[in-house]
Amino acid sequence: MKTEEEEEEEEEWRSAREVLLIVLPYLPSLFELLSMTRVSRSLRDAIRDETALWTNIVVEPPLSSRLTDDILSDITSKSAGKLKTLILRRCLRVTDTGLRRVVDSNPLITKIIVPGCSGLTPEGIMECVVSLSKNNHKVETLHINGVNGFTKQHLSALLTYLSSSEGATIDLEVCPKCDEIRMIPACSRESCNLKQTNERKCRGCWLCIPRCAECSVCLGPDTESQEAACGNDDVLCLECWLVLPKCRFCNKPYCTNHSSRRHEIATTDAAARPSFECEACYYRAGTNPYEVDYQI
Ligand SMILES: [Zn+2]
Ligand SMILES: [Zn+2]
Ligand SMILES: [Zn+2]
Ligand SMILES: [Zn+2]
Ligand SMILES: [Zn+2]
Repeated sequence: MKTEEEEEEEEEWRSAREVLLIVLPYLPSLFELLSMTRVSRSLRDAIRDETALWTNIVVEPPLSSRLTDDILSDITSKSAGKLKTLILRRCLRVTDTGLRRVVDSNPLITKIIVPGCSGLTPEGIMECVVSLSKNNHKVETLHINGVNGFTKQHLSALLTYLSSSEGATIDLEVCPKCDEIRMIPACSRESCNLKQTNERKCRGCWLCIPRCAECSVCLGPDTESQEAACGNDDVLCLECWLVLPKCRFCNKPYCTNHSSRRHEIATTDAAARPSFECEACYYRAGTNPYEVDYQI
């Protein structure tokens, strides 16, 4: 016989669990989902057994560097064959074998987003896409920018297997300027997107067309651009430059992709706005007032 208290507790847990299972699918990535499993044992079990939570797998930094083929296989097996979306960002340790294992046990996958997964090869990805094209099923979204070695032959072969429905996308194209297989960013400049022009003039890869590192708008000779703190030739349009937080010393901002390079400056004043210094200023001895060598 359960006491009244126990029953009440059980009832409370049941409703908490229901709420959690509604909320959990909206967690942005595996990182948050795994953090939730540490809250309690019963929550961990509930999460593990709820296959609906595992139909979209998103692994991004900081978890990416730890993802191996075996861990990937373990995580995806929780979907019980119902995995639909696989998003792996910069998971360098995942190989063709690992991806193939996931695909073989999850024939319903429609989205494979693996940018920067440089352990994969064009042949490996090709085989997965072909394997998923059985029984009237097709891959709809394929993001493979940063997987090296794609040729025009790979690309045209891939296109024959991908879904032809509207909204289906692959992120690599033949750049009309350099004829290489590259990603061609969209441009938010209004004049570039006027419908009457056949092809927008700024259609080209990152190397052929100078663009804002933040919003990818094209930057022509008559548009104002500003230097970013990122190095590697990142430039910013004036609009993005104005809103991004800037280094306290050289006043250059980092683009969002490189924002982890900020060296935050600790302050004891709770009301002070957070400020940072860029790597260049941080390491440049002498300009950094916190590292000045006062000994003579
Ligand atoms: Zn190009
Ligand atoms: Zn911009
Ligand atoms: Zn443009
Ligand atoms: Zn600086
Ligand atoms: Zn940058």
